[in-house]
Amino acid sequence: MPIIITVTHAVCFSRTERDCDRRAAVAARMLHDILKAKKCDVVLEISSSYREEVDSNRKDARDTLWRKQLNRTIREQQKLGKVFVLDIHSFPPDMPAMGHLKAYFVELDMPSSLSPGKRYQGWSDADKAWAWLAVKESIGETNSRVVLGDGHNDIMLTSSMTGASTVILEVNESLDILGEPELGNFFIHLTDELFMKYC
Ligand SMILES: [Zn+2]
Repeated sequence: MPIIITVTHAVCFSRTERDCDRRAAVAARMLHDILKAKKCDVVLEISSSYREEVDSNRKDARDTLWRKQLNRTIREQQKLGKVFVLDIHSFPPDMPAMGHLKAYFVELDMPSSLSPGKRYQGWSDADKAWAWLAVKESIGETNSRVVLGDGHNDIMLTSSMTGASTVILEVNESLDILGEPELGNFFIHLTDELFMKYC
């Protein structure tokens, strides 16, 4: 049963404007390689859409080839067992209120509009606790946070609908705030504490 890593905002055009997630693809490849080295079954899916044309993480993008293929992959793997979908993004250090953090999670917990009483909870309380343990062991809990997302995070929403566990990971783009070795260390702890349970 694999970990499926997605990157939706990897395509950059501008040299001056921040028109993409500048560190997301690099971070995703790093985690992918760590999981591979641990003999984990892992799939890395990087969207080639430019965010200003098609935001692959929005409902409007569900009919794109990339999203359809991703959905098929998730559903096929779900037949074999529990799947974890990690959607990786990155943020600039000048982001208001959050820019000082090394990394943070965006979790999903919202009521279903179709079936009353049903909730879409991206990951379980146990998964969240394991992830937070990894944070404590690596980047430190004052340098991270878990925030609540909304239904606009469409990969998380559709993954949750298929029964997969899912969360967004946002990493700081500043190497001064989160250096490469520290990011690698964080990923090793996340793998040991959380992802190995899905491998
Ligand atoms: Zn993003």
